[in-house]
Amino acid sequence: MSDEQILLTRGATSLTLMLKGFDEQLDLRLEGLRDVLRQKEFQGDEFQQHLAAVENVYDQLEQSSDKNVELYIKTFNTLLAGSAPDVLEPLNRAQPLLSDLLNFAEPLASFVRSQSIRSDTTDSTSLDDLRLRLGNRFKSLLQTLMLMGDDRGLLTALIDKLDNNPSWQSLDSLASTTIDLLQFRLSEEKKEFEGYLAELNAKLARINDIVAADSVILSEIKELNIEFNSSINMQMISARAKIDEQHKVDALKSELLQSLDQITTRLVEYQVNYANRLENLQTSKVEMNKQIRSLEQDNIDLLTELNKERKLGMLDTLTQLPNRLGFNNRLEAELSRAKRYDHPISVGIIDIDFFKRINDEFGHLVGDKVLRMIAGEMKRVCRDHDYIARYGGEEFILLLPQTELADAYVALEKIRTHVANCPFHFQNKPVPLNISAGVAQRRLDESTEAWINRADVALYHSKHNGRNRVTVEDD
Ligand code: GH3
Ligand code: MG
Ligand code: MG
Repeated sequence: MSDEQILLTRGATSLTLMLKGFDEQLDLRLEGLRDVLRQKEFQGDEFQQHLAAVENVYDQLEQSSDKNVELYIKTFNTLLAGSAPDVLEPLNRAQPLLSDLLNFAEPLASFVRSQSIRSDTTDSTSLDDLRLRLGNRFKSLLQTLMLMGDDRGLLTALIDKLDNNPSWQSLDSLASTTIDLLQFRLSEEKKEFEGYLAELNAKLARINDIVAADSVILSEIKELNIEFNSSINMQMISARAKIDEQHKVDALKSELLQSLDQITTRLVEYQVNYANRLENLQTSKVEMNKQIRSLEQDNIDLLTELNKERKLGMLDTLTQLPNRLGFNNRLEAELSRAKRYDHPISVGIIDIDFFKRINDEFGHLVGDKVLRMIAGEMKRVCRDHDYIARYGGEEFILLLPQTELADAYVALEKIRTHVANCPFHFQNKPVPLNISAGVAQRRLDESTEAWINRADVALYHSKHNGRNRVTVEDD
């Protein structure tokens, strides 16, 4: 590889590290650029083309963010003028934290206004004062976020910046970071909630089908009963008529009386069966009603859970996965569901292999980026019903409701191989990334602590036996 090509490759790797994750299109173009560099023969023309494509997408992104700034300024001005209360309406309906954002939007807006009114006589004291006040607002918002989550790294770094008399530009980038964190959370919750609603709808539709089928059977039985009764009645009437006619013939009389007895016995039998059948249907209806009520309760529980998660900030800000608090909360709900319906439930604990080396070799910022990337990839390959959370530093925990041990193993193997196959390069060197995991199914009447501990022991075995593997714990 020529010196020139090595330099270009390095440049493209740094570019990728800096820009990856902002935009899907941009990620694709960057990947294309790096593919060209990976070819044996350096193709100057192709490289130029791909670089132009990256620049193109980047320019578009920049233009759209300029538009966003214009839009913000316009919104702030409208807010200040107080002439369009409907501008506030959607914001008011959003998260409580957004109202905090509005609180600091107001002084920013007055700054924008003062800039446009007296462009030549800028009062620098009042601007400084405004900048400080804005900084303080930010700080208290970040401190609130810190109180709520368990990840301190990113927030502490942001607060340090605020303590160092930040410029207007730094305040601006702090605002976009904070808004990104909030927006990501909102969209995640929306997705999760929509998924749940779809599932709930399907369940309700199934119950509806069963109830409808029951009603059909019920009406069929009723019809049968009517037919049966009327045919028996006819037989009895004709039998009676015959008895009346032939009452002098004793033999015939007794024969007919006998057959009348038989008919009566059959009628009684039929009615008993009919009553039993009716009772069964009744019981199945009661059972169905119970199921519907419990589904409704699940729905309410989940809504309160979502609200709680939102209010208490059970989200890890670095990886955007739920944190340990969020996990414990979900675990409680899933456990009670598993117990109620007698469903299996499993748990997996995942730990990144030799993560300390990544930090030591490339620094903590790269370490953080790797953590975010692995978290995102794991979440992507998880099934909808599974729940993955950041359990500690570089440890994650996966809850698998309605899953037996063998299937849980398959799910974790899928995640492990996916991570192992993720390409990650730094300074032109491929950086191998692997995870180890331990998995355990909950035993009947086992405490949560003992259950999770068994998964932890299994993880220990994975590490001990050479890492990059999943171990099940079932004895
Ligand atoms: P193994 O698990 O394979 O035994 O090795 P390891 O090197 O991953 O194990 P160890 O538990 O000794 O090290 C974990 C490292 O993860 C130590 C810590 O610095 C790093 N870490 C934990 N949380 C974070 C974080 O949020 N960001 C960064 N950059 N590093 C973190
Ligand atoms: Mg660890
Ligand atoms: Mg580790």
